[in-house]
Amino acid sequence: MNDCIFCKIINGDFNTDFIYENEKLVAFNDINPQAPTHILFVPKEHIESLNELNNTILIKEIYDAIKTVAKEKEISDYRVVLNTGKNAGQEVMHIHFHMLSGRKLNWPPG
Ligand code: AMP
Ligand code: ZN
Repeated sequence: MNDCIFCKIINGDFNTDFIYENEKLVAFNDINPQAPTHILFVPKEHIESLNELNNTILIKEIYDAIKTVAKEKEISDYRVVLNTGKNAGQEVMHIHFHMLSGRKLNWPPG
């Protein structure tokens, strides 16, 4: 999608360093990290949110990628966040999963 920031990143418009990439998704550091490790896992296909996601196999592929990166980085404790909709904190309308780690994470989240 033309005006989508994550589609542009996926397209290589900003020369973003990808921590992980396969044919379905990319992972890169969040520009405004909320923890020492804050990585975004983003499907290459432009899907606005979980509400528009019909291919649930993609969710498995994303979690597989998260586990791969966690293993590579020797991270055992982490949180995965999927904000869906404005009131839940979704600002970028291209589905993405946050992986947060490196500090004690509070519960419940705000
Ligand atoms: P959300 O609020 O769940 O939609 O998360 C969007 C996330 O994208 C935020 O944590 C932003 O800091 C992050 N973000 C926005 N623009 C960029 C960018 N150009 N590169 C990396 N992360 C970004
Ligand atoms: Zn997009």
